[in-house]
Amino acid sequence: MEEKPFPAWSRSMEHCLKEHNVKLGKGLSSFEAEERREMYGWNELKKEKGKPLWRLILQQFDDMLIKILLVAAFISFVLAYLEGNESGHTELEVYVEPLVIFSILMINAVVGIWQETNAEKALEALKSMQCEYAKVQRDGRYIPDLPARELVPGDIVELRVGDKVPADMRIATLTTSSFRVEQSSLTGESMPVIKGTSPVLLDDCELQAKDCMLFAGTTVVNGSCICIVTSIGMNTEIGKVQAQISEASQDEQDTPLTKKLDEFGEMLTTAIGIVCLVVWAMNYRNFITWDSVNPSMWNFYFSFEKCTYYFKIAVTLAVAAIPEGLPAVITTCLALGTRKMAQKHAIVRKLPSVETLGCTTVICSDKTGTLTTNQMSVNEFFTVGENLSTIRVFHVDGTTYNPKDGGISGWCNRNMDESLQALAGICAICNDAGIYRDGYLFRATGLPTEAALKVLVEKMGLPGAKVRNRIRDTEFAFDFSINHNTVRLDCCEWWTKRSKRLAALEFDRVRKSMSVIVHRPTGSNHLLVKGAFESVFERSSHVQLSDGSVALLDESSKWLIMSNVQAMSSKGLRCLGFAFKDDLGEFSDYNSETHPAHKRLLDPANYPEIESNLIFVGVVGLRDPPRDEVHKAIEDCRCAGIKVMVITGDNKSTAEAICKEIALFSDKTSLRGKSFTGKEFMTLPADQQMEILSKPGGVVFSRAEPRHKQDIVRLLKDMGEIVAMTGDGVNDAPALKLADVGIAMGITGTEVAKQAADMILADDNFSTIVSAVAEGRAIYSNMKSFIRWASRNSSGF
Ligand code: ATP
Repeated sequence: MEEKPFPAWSRSMEHCLKEHNVKLGKGLSSFEAEERREMYGWNELKKEKGKPLWRLILQQFDDMLIKILLVAAFISFVLAYLEGNESGHTELEVYVEPLVIFSILMINAVVGIWQETNAEKALEALKSMQCEYAKVQRDGRYIPDLPARELVPGDIVELRVGDKVPADMRIATLTTSSFRVEQSSLTGESMPVIKGTSPVLLDDCELQAKDCMLFAGTTVVNGSCICIVTSIGMNTEIGKVQAQISEASQDEQDTPLTKKLDEFGEMLTTAIGIVCLVVWAMNYRNFITWDSVNPSMWNFYFSFEKCTYYFKIAVTLAVAAIPEGLPAVITTCLALGTRKMAQKHAIVRKLPSVETLGCTTVICSDKTGTLTTNQMSVNEFFTVGENLSTIRVFHVDGTTYNPKDGGISGWCNRNMDESLQALAGICAICNDAGIYRDGYLFRATGLPTEAALKVLVEKMGLPGAKVRNRIRDTEFAFDFSINHNTVRLDCCEWWTKRSKRLAALEFDRVRKSMSVIVHRPTGSNHLLVKGAFESVFERSSHVQLSDGSVALLDESSKWLIMSNVQAMSSKGLRCLGFAFKDDLGEFSDYNSETHPAHKRLLDPANYPEIESNLIFVGVVGLRDPPRDEVHKAIEDCRCAGIKVMVITGDNKSTAEAICKEIALFSDKTSLRGKSFTGKEFMTLPADQQMEILSKPGGVVFSRAEPRHKQDIVRLLKDMGEIVAMTGDGVNDAPALKLADVGIAMGITGTEVAKQAADMILADDNFSTIVSAVAEGRAIYSNMKSFIRWASRNSSGF
C-alpha cells in the first residue's frame, strides 16, 4: 500500500511523531510494527523478475556452435529421410545420427539451465546474507541489528557515522554537534551536506533543500542522530528512481571474469571453426572426383552425400573440441565456492574476488577486533599524585563487562581525590556505550573501549563516604539493576546527572580523540577529552594533581608520565589519555545550536584546536586479548608464503606486544626494520620503503591513519604483490577499493566500508581471512585444472 504523502520536512518534529503515532524513547511496539508491515509491506526495492524458463531454454541455443550443430542435425535428418526412402533400412537405424546430435544438444541445454539457475541461487543466497541492518527502537528498547527490510513508517532509528540510511527519514534529534550526509548518488551534490532538525517551511521543494530529511541509500559521513522513518521501499526517493530505470539490477550478472571467459570461448570457437572448415576442405577428394578419361577443371563428379558426410564429421569434431561449457562451469565453480566461504563466515561480494583471494600474497590486517577479541577490560590506570614526581598506579581485576567481576586492588571504598574524580567523570560522561545482559553474559552496546570505561567507573564507585551514604539513602540502590536486560550503571548515572552534555565532538581516526562540552551546576562550561594517549598528551599543557591543583607540565613530569605509559603499553595494554579544559573561550557560555560559536562545531577540522591547551588527568590501560585461533592462522600464512602486515591505529609498543603475543614476531626478534609508526614509514625514501615491504616475515605499522593504508597498498601493488586489506571505517573505503581484495568487518564495519569491499568478514576474525584464502587457492587450482583439461581436449582433437 502507498504511504500517505506527508511533507515531513516542512513539519515540526512533534508533528511528525504525532502523525506517525509514535513516541521518542519508546518507538513502536512489535504489534504496531507488524500491523504497519501488513499495510505498507517490506522495506525493499522491487526485485527484477528472474528469466522465464522459455527464455533460459532459448538462451542455451543462442550460440554460434550450437547453431552450426542445429543446421548439421537438420541436414543429417533430411539426408536420413532421403536415404531411408531409397535403402529400405529400418527407420531408427537411419535416424541414429540426427537423434544423437539432438540428444547432445538437449543434454547441453539441460546442463546449461541447471548451471545457470544454480549459480543464480548461490548469488541470491549471498545477497540475502549481505542484508543491511539498522539500530531501531521497538517496545521501548533498542534492537541493534534489525534487518533493514523490516523497517516500517514510524520506526525510530539511530544512525551513526558510516551507516547507510535504510529508508527515507525525518531527523528528530542530533546526538553530535555536526551531522553530514553524502547524498551525491541521489542529488548529484559533490560534497557531503550538513543536516539539522529544523523544518523547511515549504511544502514543495527539491531534495537538496530538505535539510532535515535523510534519504535511503545515502551514507552518514559524520555525526549521529535519531530519526523517524517516513517512507520505505518503493515509496522512498531511491525507489522512485528505481521505478523509472528498472534495468539497474542487471549490473552484477556478467562478472569481468565471465566476460573474459566468454571472449576466450568465442575466440576458440572461431579458431576451431576455421580448422574444421580446413579439415572438411582437405577431404575434397572424397566427394569430388575428376574424370580420369577427360581431365579438365570442370570435368568432375560431385557427391552431395559424401560432402555432407564430411561436413558432419568436421562439425562433430568441433563439438568435441570447443569447451563451450567453460564460462558456465567457471561461474558455477566460483559461485559454489562463495557459498562454501560463506559457511566459514567470509561473504564474498564479487565473484572474481574468489580467484584473486587464491592468488593473495600479502594480507594487511587491522589489529583491534581482527587479531584481538575486542572484548576490552581496564587492567591498569594511573593519575599524578600530590606533586609532579609521584604517579599512583592502580591494578584492576576482571575481564568481562560485568561491573561486579573483580575490583581495584587496594581500593575498598576509597575516598577519591580530585584527579581520580576527574578521571571517573570523564570516563562516565565522555562515553556513549552501555551494557546489557544476554543470559549470563554481559555485553557491550556501542564501542567496547567505552563500555570498559563505564565498567571501570562502577568499580571505582562514588567519590566519598558522604556521597555514598546520601546516595544509598535517596536516589539509587547503589547497585546495578536489570531493566529490559540493560544493566543500570548507577555510578555512571551519578556522574552524567551532574553535568549536562551540550555538544559532542565525535571521535575520528586522524585526531584520535573525542570530547564533550558539558555544563556543570557551578555555572561554567567544561570540555572533557579522551583519546589515544599521544594525541591527548601532545595537546596538554598542564596536569592536574591529586589535591585538584593544576601544574605546568615540565620536561621531567612529561618523561615520568611517558615512561609509565611505555611500561603499560609494552604489556600489550591499549593506553587512553584523559584531559579536560575549563577555559573554553567562545564556548564558555555555549548553550545550544543557536549560539554564535556553534558554526565552529559544524566543521570537524576545528576540533583539534578546540581540544588544545588541555589539563592532563591520567591514563587508562585496557586489555584486548588476542584471539586464540590467530596464532595458528599466522603460522599457516607463514607456511603458505603469505606475508602478514598489521596496520593499526594503536600505539607502537602496544601493537608490537600484541604482534609478539600472536607470534607474528618471535620474542627474541629485534623489531628494527619491522615496526614503524605510519608517519615514520611515510617519511622514508621510496627504495627503503620497498626494501622493508619486500622482506619476508611480518611488519607492523602503528598509529596509522587511513591515508597510510592507501599508500602502503599502492606501494605493495607497484611491487607486484596481490594485496588483501582489511578496514572498517568510512575513511578506510578508498584503501579497500584500491586493494586487490578489500575486506570489511561485518560486525564493527560501517556500511560504507562494506560497500567498498570485495569480501565481508561475518565474524571480524583474521583466521577467517586465512581460511578464505585457502578456499580461494583450492578453487583457483580446480579452475586451472579444468581450463587445462578443456584446452588439452580442444587442442588434441
Ligand atoms: P585498529 O586500527 O587496529 O582497529 P585501533 O582501534 O587502536 O586499532 P583506531 O580505531 O584508529 O585504531 O583508534 C586509534 C586510537 O584512538 C586507539 O588506539 C585509541 O587509543 C583511541 N580511541 C579509540 N576509540 C576511541 C574512542 N571512542 N574515544 C577516544 N579515543 C578512542
